[in-house]
Parts: sequence; C-alpha cells; structure tokens
Amino acid sequence: MLSVHTSPLDQPGAGDAGGMNVYIVELSRRLAARGIAVDVFTRATSSDLPPVAQLTAGVTVRHVNAGPFEGLGKDDLPAQLCAFTAAVLREEAQHEPGFYDAVHSHYWLSGQVGWLARDRWSVPLIHSAHTLAKVKNAALAEGDAPEPRARVIGEEQVVAEADRLIANTDEEARQLVRWYGADPRRVVVVPPGVDLDRFQPADRARAREQVDLAPDDVVLLFVGRIQPLKAPDVLLHAAARMLADDPSLRDRLRVLVVGAPSGSGLTEPQKLQELAARLGIADRVRFVAPQQPAQLAQYYRAADVAVVPSHNESFGLVALEAQACGTPVVAAAVGGLTTAVEDGVSGVLVAGHDPADYATAVRSVLAQRELLSAGARRHASRFSWDRTAESLVAAYTAAGAELAAAEVRGRRERLRPAVRAVPSALAPGTALPG
Ligand code: UDP
Repeated sequence: MLSVHTSPLDQPGAGDAGGMNVYIVELSRRLAARGIAVDVFTRATSSDLPPVAQLTAGVTVRHVNAGPFEGLGKDDLPAQLCAFTAAVLREEAQHEPGFYDAVHSHYWLSGQVGWLARDRWSVPLIHSAHTLAKVKNAALAEGDAPEPRARVIGEEQVVAEADRLIANTDEEARQLVRWYGADPRRVVVVPPGVDLDRFQPADRARAREQVDLAPDDVVLLFVGRIQPLKAPDVLLHAAARMLADDPSLRDRLRVLVVGAPSGSGLTEPQKLQELAARLGIADRVRFVAPQQPAQLAQYYRAADVAVVPSHNESFGLVALEAQACGTPVVAAAVGGLTTAVEDGVSGVLVAGHDPADYATAVRSVLAQRELLSAGARRHASRFSWDRTAESLVAAYTAAGAELAAAEVRGRRERLRPAVRAVPSALAPGTALPG
C-alpha cells in the first residue's frame, strides 16, 4: 500500500487524516487476516517515528524519509515524490525479486509513486483516488481554494496508467470514465465498509451520561474534519432556525461538533464559534477533540441525528458509522452520501445547502426516529470491510492475471520484430530495407 501524505497511524478527524486512513487500516487488517502480508509506505512526519512500525500482525508501516519531517503541507508533496519513490524502490531491492505481488496506491500522490513501482516490478497497480480534483472543484464551498491544475494532470496520468481503478460508488465510476477518460474495463466499484462490532447500538442513556448530555436533550451531531467542504456552518444555521421556530427547545437543543481543523477557511473552529455567537446559539454548541472509535461510537449513540451537510463526499464513512450505531442521518444528497444513506429509510437526503431544508429534515427525523433508527442499522449492515477486502483481492488477482497474460503476449511480439517491420507495400521477394 502506498499512502504518501497521511499515515494509517494518524488519528482520523484532524488535518489530512480521515476516511482514507480508516480505509487503509481496515483493509490492511482484513488482508492480513486472509494471509496477505501488507507493507504500508507513508512519509515520515516526525523524527520520533521509528523507520518501521507494526500496525498489527502482518501489517507493517514503513516511514519514508522524503523532505523535512515537519512544515510540509500536502501541496508541497509533489516535489517530494522522487525522494519517496526512491526509498520505496530501494526497500524492495533489498528483497528477492518478486517480493511484492501488487501495489495499491491511495490518493493521486501515491498513484504517481505506484506508477513507477509497477513498471519496475512488473506487478499490477491498483489505485483508489479517494477524492477527485475535478469533482471537488465542481462543488467548492465558499472560502475553499480550488485544487491546483498540477493535481488534475497528476490524477489524469494515474488514471491512464493504473491497471485497476477502485471507485466507491457507481457515480465515482462514471466520473472516472467521463471526466478522466478512464477505460471502463479497468474501473471496479468496491464500496467501503463499516465495523459493525465496533459501531453498534447500545444503551443510549448510558452513552448520554458518558458524554455529558441530559436524557431529554435534543442532540444534533457533526463528526469529521472541520473544513468548508464539510459545511458544519450549515448545521449551525439550521440549529439556529430550529430554535427560532420553536423556543421551547432553547434549553434542550445541543449541537456537538467532533473533530479538528483541516486546511484553512471559513469554517475553522474559531470561526465556527464566532458564527455560533452571532447566531445566538454559542451556549448550545460544544466542540469536541477527535475521538478514538470506542468513544466516537458513544457520541453516535448519544445523538438523535447525525448531520452530514458536506458540499461533496466521495463516500462519507461517518454517515455509515452513525447508522451502524442506530442513529439516523440527515445528509446532503451529494456524491457517495446518496449511497451511504437510504433516503426515507435510514435518514433523509437534502438537495442543496439551505439551512431551512436541513432544519425541516432534522425535524422529520426526530418525528420518526425509532423507525429510522431500525432502518439505519439495517442499511449499515449491508456494508462490511470483509466484503470490501474480498472484492479488492479479486481485483488484485484479476489485474495480476491480465498483466501476466500481456507480458506473455509482449514477449511473443518482441520475438517477431523483423516480421512486424516488413512494410505491407513490399512485393514478395523484394529485399528488406536496411
Ligand atoms: N473519525 C475519527 N474520530 C473523530 C472524527 C472522525 O476516528 O473524532 C473518523 C471517522 O470514524 C471516519 C473518518 O474519520 O471513519 C472520516 O471519514 P469520512 O469518510 O466521513 O470523511 P473524510 O475524512 O474521508 O473526508
């Protein structure tokens, strides 16, 4: 696995760490359980990190020195790809040829590294984009900077080179084909999963007690990296509207925002706090630092509704995790969220980002919470990391077989260059040129 810009050891919910980190951890664990050893290469971001760390039996994290440990943002990393790739190739060169059977790259920066590794090792390159610049740029939030052209070009190159492109949803598969010119035969739809043991319904009263909420509070929950794209500001506006429409909620409505800043923009925590103050709901909003899964599950359980108003989301694991805990979701009808949430069954999908529509959707969920809670758990249980891993192993295997067949064909073709060089216009018996 290649994960250049963020480590599977990082705490998700802050900075560059989010769903992709969870994806790599969960997938690697499942692959290891199937007897497939995994090395994850990631950039070393601190001198304290050991060169090699064991995530779990069979999953090794290799910290690669590529540029200074600290002070580099994601946008600086294209300049470090050569250093990163060199380290990956050197590590492999210490082993017998054929040490790795496949390369799975995550995000376009890793795709660039995987492209060269694949060529050097003659193994298939499987690529997961996680997000696509063209899609992101088409749905920019106010205050969000567009993704640079260098990324778009880099993504196009990876799409052209990868043996398999893994899409989270049918929609992402279509985007890869239509917007990036991907060969449809190389695109495979593999939905991500959710850990149904870790995220499952449990005593709600206890969960509320544990996260310091009263039994009769009306709790709206936002979980994720705090950035304009995730639109936590829409939730605050919706909460303010609910209070204006129903003053009896004044002492009971609670908005919890779990996560930390990512990038810069209008919705950094401090600006969110200012917005809450302007809206007169500062006393109703609580900011909570990123949480480990066990405690995060308690927040999901304690909530009446999880709200995911993102401007774009290639999938939205948070929506799935909330539902797995039996908490219905109000989400924007964008990207992967239309797959992650079953409208009217596990929550409500909202077109656009008008806070009034979110307030209406939240009210409608509150009115039928029990029914939707059962639907949420049912919907979430259709997703599993085991199934994700199984589908990916099938993709690795098919891509490997295809590559092997192409190599055999290529060798045969290389054995016949003189025949192929004969210009068709030459009459039989004519001397070959040169
Ligand atoms: N997450 C977490 N702790 C937090 C906040 C988020 O572990 O305090 C995890 C969450 O469980 C989810 C991931 O971060 O698995 C966020 O993934 P999602 O697909 O929702 O968003 P992304 O970060 O990929 O944009």
